[in-house]
Amino acid sequence: MQSRSLCVLVISSLRCRHKIMIAVSPMRWLAVEAKAVVLLSGGLDSATTLAVARSEGYAVYALTVDYGQRHRRELQAAQRVAESLGVVEHRIVRLDLRAIGGSALTDNIQVPKDRAMEEIEHGIPVTYVPARNTVLLGLALGYAEVVGAFDIFIGCNAIDYSGYPDCRPEFLRQFEALANVATKAGVEGLGVFRVHAPLLYLSKANIIREGKRLGVNFRLTHSCYEPTEEGLACGRCDSCRLRLKGFLEAQERDSIGYAYVPPEYSAAVAVAEKPRKAGR
Ligand SMILES: [Zn+2]
Repeated sequence: MQSRSLCVLVISSLRCRHKIMIAVSPMRWLAVEAKAVVLLSGGLDSATTLAVARSEGYAVYALTVDYGQRHRRELQAAQRVAESLGVVEHRIVRLDLRAIGGSALTDNIQVPKDRAMEEIEHGIPVTYVPARNTVLLGLALGYAEVVGAFDIFIGCNAIDYSGYPDCRPEFLRQFEALANVATKAGVEGLGVFRVHAPLLYLSKANIIREGKRLGVNFRLTHSCYEPTEEGLACGRCDSCRLRLKGFLEAQERDSIGYAYVPPEYSAAVAVAEKPRKAGR
């Protein structure tokens, strides 16, 4: 009799398949993909995170935040990655964190170059953007509530920068708890918000292996904090060095263009690093 009213239930036995069962009549059920919001920066980690969400069967709504990064390459990379991995939609939110500053990425502070790996892997560098993950997850949560998603993916990693406060599992758990009391969908019991950080304990090499396995084209991604005007990665900032080290350890070759490659990482790049001209 009330066949027109849709009853939406998440069946726990199918939860691992990330399907939602929709009753279209008392005898007829449809299985549809559950939705997930994925924070997509255009870097190697977030591209792999998106691929993980897709491989787990989620219909992905990608969210990129234009927070006033030093360059636009990252945003262009995010668009290319979203297109290549297949998302339902990709939104770019502009929220200029340069109004707050406090980071080498959003303020007039020099990006560190040529740091030793021991230095990179310990402590919080000046490229840390104050409270960035809280801000990004807050926006992802709002977007999730709008599209009816309860799963949020973020490419957090606790290995590369062991000191980042907003990449720790306790932060992610606390944000989850917040999400469920901070939203209409949460308090009305329509679902339970979950924050997924599938790369949390993976080394960069293992992230690259996982991305390769899932079909990520890393050539589309961008990691450098301070690329040249032609769009070449500098090869000297922390992000470039971690990326090169990851490719080296994964025994893969990175095919993006570098303006400079430290000799110890020469086996990690696909071509001899003569800078190519603009337009590529
Ligand atoms: Zn760089």
